[in-house]
Amino acid sequence: MVPARGVGGKRIAVLGLGRTGLTAAASLAAGGAEIAGWDEAADARDGAREAGVSLKDLSTDGAWEGIDCLVVSPGVQHLYPEPNRMVLAATDAGVPIDNDIGVFFKSVRPDAGKGGGPVIVAVTGSNGKSTTSALIHHTLAHSGRAVQIAGNIGQGVLGIDPPGDGEIVVLEVSSYQSDVASVLDPDIAVFLNLTPDHLGRHGGLGGYFAAKRRLFGGRSLRRAVIGVDDNESRFLASQVAAMTDPGTTVRVSAARDSAGRPPSVCVRDGGIAASVDGAEVRVGLDGIRALTGVHNRQNACAATAVCLGCGLGAAEVEEGFRTFAGLPHRTQIVGEYGGVLCVNDSKSTNAESAAMALKAFRNIRWIAGGLGKESGLAPLSDGLENVVKAYLIGHSAREFALQLGGTPYAICRTMEDAVSLAASDAEPGDTVLLAPAAASFDQYPDFEARGTHFIEEVRKRFGM
Ligand code: ADP
Repeated sequence: MVPARGVGGKRIAVLGLGRTGLTAAASLAAGGAEIAGWDEAADARDGAREAGVSLKDLSTDGAWEGIDCLVVSPGVQHLYPEPNRMVLAATDAGVPIDNDIGVFFKSVRPDAGKGGGPVIVAVTGSNGKSTTSALIHHTLAHSGRAVQIAGNIGQGVLGIDPPGDGEIVVLEVSSYQSDVASVLDPDIAVFLNLTPDHLGRHGGLGGYFAAKRRLFGGRSLRRAVIGVDDNESRFLASQVAAMTDPGTTVRVSAARDSAGRPPSVCVRDGGIAASVDGAEVRVGLDGIRALTGVHNRQNACAATAVCLGCGLGAAEVEEGFRTFAGLPHRTQIVGEYGGVLCVNDSKSTNAESAAMALKAFRNIRWIAGGLGKESGLAPLSDGLENVVKAYLIGHSAREFALQLGGTPYAICRTMEDAVSLAASDAEPGDTVLLAPAAASFDQYPDFEARGTHFIEEVRKRFGM
């Protein structure tokens, strides 16, 4: 655990006592703060009590008297669609607000901009954060670098071992987190792409973009890696280039064979062509199944820019990529059964990410549906070209059916029915792909449970 710095003797409220909140409370207590923890859910409070966190009902009148700072968890709404009433009361009372990411930066980098301490790589974007963070972490670790990973896919950032000087910390940062953090000061920041998501929580696309852009305002920034395959990202790259020293901003493209003026990284002739730090290098991608699809090429380009920036050579980067197993539920190859490939992309909870999976395979028997997003399937655009038939499940099944144009479909309701029908329809050369383009909460606790169920059904129907 990273003990918080600069909090000795302070009284700090921690709102939201899930995994992140508990870790933050422990770190703040280790730094000498007096904790006033609270959660609206009684079972979370019970868990916190067992973990030794002292509680205080922050919903009462006068609760903010004597509180020096409020640390909120990502699950707590701070502003939109409506502020949590306790956050509102705290800000009414003029209490400073922060989160675990802000506490982390203040703790490991008390002298921002002066060098020393760990090398922090922060990764954001609408899609691909976890994959890219994991790929960077794996590649650096494979080459023998001291590196830890934190954020959504790992543990809360304050839960890692205190990082030593020069040790690398790969930090996945969501917009909820970057919106609130008091300090965001990475050495290397990555922005992959921007598509509309979580708009309710940010008061619209502008608020969402603004939250993510905060990653580039720190004093330690020496490399800004920015995907330039959408308008907002291109604008951001030009803006950051104007704010930083020449050569800091590395443009990355997987959709074009040039990412613009160097330094840049793009996909060319099936491999990665990087023009950074005055050198031209190539990283081969042939036969690397875990990096299938344009979306994973984007992640690989960004990871290349980061790893070269951490001092790896191109051969080390390629070796890391070749040994990367991929993450579960993200274009995860479940198996090939009698010539039928089965792929689990349960994490594609919006149409943009599902479109990426649909573009990565051919002759697709597509299992989709769940709790659809506001834009439905509209962002799929040409993604349906590779679909031979859709198998629709969950709450949005009928709504999705109306948006499929001429693509054949079956309303299947459940995963069992969908996999069973897809299995009986499938021919060698087909791909059975779960890419729901919808959240899972109508039928499952989370996307992991949905993907695991898909894998079980695939093994039942195809594995015989
Ligand atoms: P995040 O952590 O941002 O949610 P993940 O790496 O978990 O991203 O991937 C989420 C979904 O987005 C998966 O369905 C995955 O296949 C897809 N995806 C991964 N990388 C990208 C990318 N660069 N662009 C678009 N979609 C992507």
